[in-house]
Amino acid sequence: MQSRETLLRRIPAVDEMLRRPAVEAWSKTHPHAVLVEAIRGVLADLRERILAGEDLRPEDLDPAGLLPRVEARLIDLLRPSLRRVLNATGVVVHTNLGRSPLPAEAVEAVRRVAEGYSNLEYDVARGERGKRFVHVEGLLRDLTGAEAATVVNNNAAAVLLVLNALAEGKEVVVSRGELIEIGGSFRIPDVMARSGARLREVGTTNKTRLADYEEAVGPDTALLLKVHTSNFAIVGFTEDVPVSDLSGLGRGRGIPVVHDLGSGSFVDLAQIGIGPEPTVGASLKSGADVVTFSGDKLLGGPQAGIIVGKRNLLDRIRSNPLARAVRIDKLTLAALEAVLRIYRDEPEGAAKKIPVLSMLTAAPADLKRRAQKLAEMIRKEAGDRAAVSVQPEQSQAGGGALPLGNLPTWAASVLPADVSVSRVEALLRENDPPVIARVKEGCVLFDPRTLRDADFPVVALAVGRALGKTAAEAGK
Ligand SMILES: *Cc1c(COP(=O)(O)O)cnc(C)c1O
Repeated sequence: MQSRETLLRRIPAVDEMLRRPAVEAWSKTHPHAVLVEAIRGVLADLRERILAGEDLRPEDLDPAGLLPRVEARLIDLLRPSLRRVLNATGVVVHTNLGRSPLPAEAVEAVRRVAEGYSNLEYDVARGERGKRFVHVEGLLRDLTGAEAATVVNNNAAAVLLVLNALAEGKEVVVSRGELIEIGGSFRIPDVMARSGARLREVGTTNKTRLADYEEAVGPDTALLLKVHTSNFAIVGFTEDVPVSDLSGLGRGRGIPVVHDLGSGSFVDLAQIGIGPEPTVGASLKSGADVVTFSGDKLLGGPQAGIIVGKRNLLDRIRSNPLARAVRIDKLTLAALEAVLRIYRDEPEGAAKKIPVLSMLTAAPADLKRRAQKLAEMIRKEAGDRAAVSVQPEQSQAGGGALPLGNLPTWAASVLPADVSVSRVEALLRENDPPVIARVKEGCVLFDPRTLRDADFPVVALAVGRALGKTAAEAGK
């Protein structure tokens, strides 16, 4: 074993690496600074491994031997950081994977508005300054039956803005069973504190009755807030108060009811066999004065927070200074308008045109046929390195919707022959584009629900490559 000092001294210098013919060739086609950064990164890795006590062999420090790693790092540095991945997890609204893929109409609308100037805040007919929310307000009114509507950056911002605008310095009554946390640190009590409103908890985790709200309401009460419990469900001995009862209480005492619907949907998903998820219109009909929901969950649009409800309340919300801080940007607005137009003008076609809806409503028989097709393609690439089959599985809606909802699906299942399944899964993530799959009981699962047919050959090739590489690493 060589001493650390000897090993550290043997690390090649950056200049030495730059003089290698291969590197000189790369420097003709790649920015010098990036090339140097790639070399430095590889050398820094070596230093770290030596300092961590790893006994490197002399060939590990050989400049020529380091070139493939420099090249890999160079490719990595030159590639966009935010890029496409293939979602084989079967989680339709996958927050970590960008939630909703947009329909073609929305992508086209973004392109049109992004390329040039637009009437974002300009009333073309009058030749004067306008408001950005007008581009979607009429559509939202038509779709939900609300008197007025506005849109902000996301639903978290919508809730914060509504609470600040309608309840700063006052009390907001919420059931203990609805004090939820949504992934990524959105907690109702914290948002409430930041908004300047005071939380007044009522009831218990599993049971809250109208009487609990009635007792809590006083001169300091500004709002009754109902929160969709989204990503969890309390089952068994439970009771909660429907919006209609809250609204009865609120009307009697002159206190508005706000409903944070989370996902929000315009279509009754129960009609297509999934749910129950309350629609925005149903919440308003039940008496909610303000409803907030996300643009990129079940709606299948861009990231946005949508606020609909009574005109006088919406006026207060829109004129609050926070509204400016959380405003929606023009690209999002363009995409949102296009998606809302599909819902309003082609309600029959929405399930086909909006990817989230078409994925959620895919027929099990179709999913089975597609899983078989995918499995067949994977089998060709895998050869005898894995056993490939098709098996019944469950997909998930994601996005906090339908936490218990069952979406039966069929997955292509790959059982690697005596190599590590977690290594195969990791190599799939290294593919370009990365393939994100699920590991279960020693198999890698690929759910066709969240893949397009055009993705199948890419997935199959990636699996073939990952299996080949794992076998080579294992010396098989
Ligand atoms: C998802 C969710 C939010 C946050 O919405 P974002 O669009 O992610 O900001 C807030 N409330 C509920 C009930 C949710 O489900």
